[in-house]
Amino acid sequence: MSEHAGERYLVEAIRNGDPAAWREVIDRYQGRLLSFARRRVASGADADDLVQEAFVGLLRSLPRYDPERSLETYLFAILRNKLTDHFQQAGRARKQSLDNLDPAEQPADWVESETPSRRMEEQEALGEQRGALVSALRGWAEQCCEQRRFDDLIVVEMLVVLGLRNKEVATDLGMTETAVAGVKFRVLDQWRKLTQASPAARDWQEADLARDSSVARIWQSEGVSCPKRSTLGRHLLGALDADWVRFVDFHVTTAACDRCIANLDDLRSEDQRDEATRSALRERCFASSVGFLSRAPGS
Ligand SMILES: [Zn+2]
Repeated sequence: MSEHAGERYLVEAIRNGDPAAWREVIDRYQGRLLSFARRRVASGADADDLVQEAFVGLLRSLPRYDPERSLETYLFAILRNKLTDHFQQAGRARKQSLDNLDPAEQPADWVESETPSRRMEEQEALGEQRGALVSALRGWAEQCCEQRRFDDLIVVEMLVVLGLRNKEVATDLGMTETAVAGVKFRVLDQWRKLTQASPAARDWQEADLARDSSVARIWQSEGVSCPKRSTLGRHLLGALDADWVRFVDFHVTTAACDRCIANLDDLRSEDQRDEATRSALRERCFASSVGFLSRAPGS
């Protein structure tokens, strides 16, 4: 069973209230989520609490979860949201934009209150736009990896994620400014073609590549260019070829992808962490969330 098919099967089982499937999901994702939280909050107990809350958040938002999406992306989005609430007081109004149309990032009261149908329609339209853009970007990034166009990926991450200017990218990579502009032009053209396949998508302009645009936020929250966990594992074993090593090093060190850093931390500590510690955390997460499992539809 592919990883994605396995996830879909687990989600379906959880929707039917299966506690074994829920334990499996906690066991699979707790390590990387905890590594992510521990890098951000000083107290280990707070990190534990936030991870537990993220799992509860997953169960609560499961009716809106799109099974086409990776569960890891969804869980990281919920955890980021919990961290934001942890640092900034909860309850501030969230600006409606493509960036926070992620169902995982909706505040709980949005789900639970009556939503006027007009707002619902607007949210749906923006949600479709976001979905179309996500799948176009992801398809493009996958193509780059398959065709080993890592230079394109690196240039785009520098422009989009790091928000650098053409000139800065050119200096860092030892390219001419014209060459960087050429990559940017070609990539935007590819994105336009990819998004045009969906009626929900709009035409993406050069401004969308700028820092803090929807594209930048989506790129990070969806982990558009993140290598698979198995690739990160091979990287630790020194089993990747030079092109891949260059990209993974760039992505983790220069672009500082927090989600890949969390996965690497977790992979490194997997051998050292004893089974007792792991199962103690799993059981705490399970105990704090299982009440929401029994309320899932279909149970
Ligand atoms: Zn990453």
